[in-house]
Amino acid sequence: MTDGYEIAPWELRWRGLDLDALRRTESTFALSNGHIGLRGTLEEGEPRGLPGTYLNGFYEERPLPYAEAGYGYPESGQTVVNVTDGKIVRLLVGDEPLDVRYGTTTAHERVLDFRAGTLRRRTEWTSPTGRRVRIRTERLVSFTQRAVAAIHYEVEPLDGGLQLVVQSDLLANEPIEQRTADPRVAAALEAPLQVQFAGCADHRAVLVHTTRRSGLTVAAAMDHELDVPDGLRTGISAAGDLARLTAAVDVPAGARLRLTKFLGYGWSSQRSVPALRAQVDAALAGARQTGWDGLLTEQRSYLDGFWDSADVELDGDPELQQAVRFALFHVLQAGARGESRAIPAKGLTGPGYDGHAFWDTEAFVLPVLTYTVPDAARDALRWRHSTLDKARDRARVLGRRGAAFPWRSISGAECSAYWPAGTAGFHIGADVADAVARYLAATGDTDFERHCGVELLVETARLWQSLGHHNRGGGFRIDGVTGPDEYTAVVDNNVYTNLMAQRNLREAAAACDRAPDVAIALGVDAAETAGWRRAAEAMLVPYDEDLGVHPQCTGFTHYAEWDFAATPPEQYPLLLHHPYYDLYRKQVIKQADLVLAMHLRGDAFTAEEKARNVAYYEARTVRDSSLSACSQAVLAAEVGHLDLAYDYLAECALIDLHDLHGNVSNGLHIASLAGVWIAVVAGLGGMRDHDGRLTFAPRLPAALPRVAFRMYFGGSRLGVEVVPGHATYRLLSGDPLDVAHHGEPIRVVLGKPMTRPVPPAPWLPPLTHPAGRAPIRRARDRA
Ligand code: BGC
Repeated sequence: MTDGYEIAPWELRWRGLDLDALRRTESTFALSNGHIGLRGTLEEGEPRGLPGTYLNGFYEERPLPYAEAGYGYPESGQTVVNVTDGKIVRLLVGDEPLDVRYGTTTAHERVLDFRAGTLRRRTEWTSPTGRRVRIRTERLVSFTQRAVAAIHYEVEPLDGGLQLVVQSDLLANEPIEQRTADPRVAAALEAPLQVQFAGCADHRAVLVHTTRRSGLTVAAAMDHELDVPDGLRTGISAAGDLARLTAAVDVPAGARLRLTKFLGYGWSSQRSVPALRAQVDAALAGARQTGWDGLLTEQRSYLDGFWDSADVELDGDPELQQAVRFALFHVLQAGARGESRAIPAKGLTGPGYDGHAFWDTEAFVLPVLTYTVPDAARDALRWRHSTLDKARDRARVLGRRGAAFPWRSISGAECSAYWPAGTAGFHIGADVADAVARYLAATGDTDFERHCGVELLVETARLWQSLGHHNRGGGFRIDGVTGPDEYTAVVDNNVYTNLMAQRNLREAAAACDRAPDVAIALGVDAAETAGWRRAAEAMLVPYDEDLGVHPQCTGFTHYAEWDFAATPPEQYPLLLHHPYYDLYRKQVIKQADLVLAMHLRGDAFTAEEKARNVAYYEARTVRDSSLSACSQAVLAAEVGHLDLAYDYLAECALIDLHDLHGNVSNGLHIASLAGVWIAVVAGLGGMRDHDGRLTFAPRLPAALPRVAFRMYFGGSRLGVEVVPGHATYRLLSGDPLDVAHHGEPIRVVLGKPMTRPVPPAPWLPPLTHPAGRAPIRRARDRA
């Protein structure tokens, strides 16, 4: 048992009713296919934490007020909208509404099943006057039918017969309460939807609404199948914000009422109301034709395929095994069917961060999808490509060439109202380029390269070329930018930014060489690519000779130290308790920055530099962002701190299940969940992909007897299994693969597993951490 969740390898189960945990578990039990997201609310609608139904890309605009406006500040923000709720199925038992706050709930459990792809619930409830019923529900958001969700709802009277009335709703403009001043929580929108159409017939209803400012239109439709004893009476209505099917029937002892609710969702900025109605009607027709059992079968077989190519096995720590699959399942849910939409920081599991997508997607989520569900990675990059015009406009407004991608956005327009931890995070362009280069190297997808990849690389390279300059000595500097660490802002020569920009410039030049006709069409000439190469060669990477470490940015190692000993635990995250000016001028690090550079650009550091840098930055990193533990796990493993790598892997994997940041109720940390895969595969597996070559350097901490994972590369599927002392590489399908094991090149072919010894890790002195900020010592506790 872990914090209410039971430990099991392939599911997340919570037994018992804990109303205080509702808001959190609505996030962990959320279902999504990357297009539709349903929070894990109870079917009866109440009690509830934070109801939520989201459609990827559907948002409302809101003004961004500034006390003191500046040139180039975005004028409006975007907030994800809780669209029409189709999850609601209310029940009247005799004349009493099922509400677990009243009467007695004698049994209650919810199960998120990672292989079935459904959320199941079982509740046994005794009404205040003593009527007993058992409710079983199962819901899914279909991976195979993108616009479809469905709920199977079953009620069984437990003593004698009962009259049962179910009301199945579509409800728009659900009121949402807001109770925090935390800037990471979404701005509440009051009644954002205006009704355009409400209609019903038979067991089917549809509501169409438009947002007031952004002018987006959403259609939600429901249809039902009822399987009940004789004597059923039904009625249906639809008006304004509510459509409702009511079904009343006497259910004798031993019999059941069964209702299947099919939901169809669609939205558009352009399509007319009739066109959207037709779209959701068609979605429903498809779903009904497949039927509930058919949807279940399709869902399972989609997931069988996913686990076959993406599963991670981790022996010796059952809770971590569960957390790893939970993480992978949610990463898949966030990205599977987004299809040219963004992957938001919270996926579609909650309204946190206003539903915005950040660099999180390219830096953390896409590396995982590239090697497990490459098509989903391609589609997310297509979204970036589709926003290039907005990014070019933004670069123009900023007086630069190329494309400046927004720090945070839903549509592709910048929504960050805070420059230092917003647009100044220019590294997002290099993160996009890095994701493009990785995807191309891993898949050889020339179609994507020609239609999207080259242009993304070129426009991001142009930004670097016009953002930086050659200094007097010829070095290429990039000044006045913010790196990943948001506690150090608007700095010069952030090492991460410069090294990622260097890669961006080189990749852009190489892509233009590969596709010269595309380059010409984009207006690139030989002088331009030569300029990129020159800038890349001359890229300035600051180094502190006295300390023998890389400063995160020019001058960083001369900043004052933060007084960690005088900072009590309740003052974390520091951003909510200390002014930014003080964070900015001290050596306190919110999240891996130089350490992330040593992962993604590990080819730019020696092993000794890495070990010294890890020691230096460990002592100053507070992990106030969930995007830190995974990178720290990767580098800790690489330099040889295997137990620490395990600790960080566990922290990263349990961030949402243990609610380590205290905000899971607003949605899951999707990039951190992706980081779990990264911590296993790049951390314990030592996987690197510099310059498109796949290499491994696996090593296990003493407490883990076996780790195995699979991944796609170049159309082939590779399995890697690590046990104490050796590692085995197996080609699961496809052409032979050339990889490396601890520096030794090996060719893996079908039917010939290759086993190689794992060299022991070097002995290293233990590291220090900021007082009170060391990770939980999972490795030691389990050894
Ligand atoms: C992190 C950013 C991240 C954002 C959204 C912030 O706390 O510092 O790096 O992009 O959260 O996840």
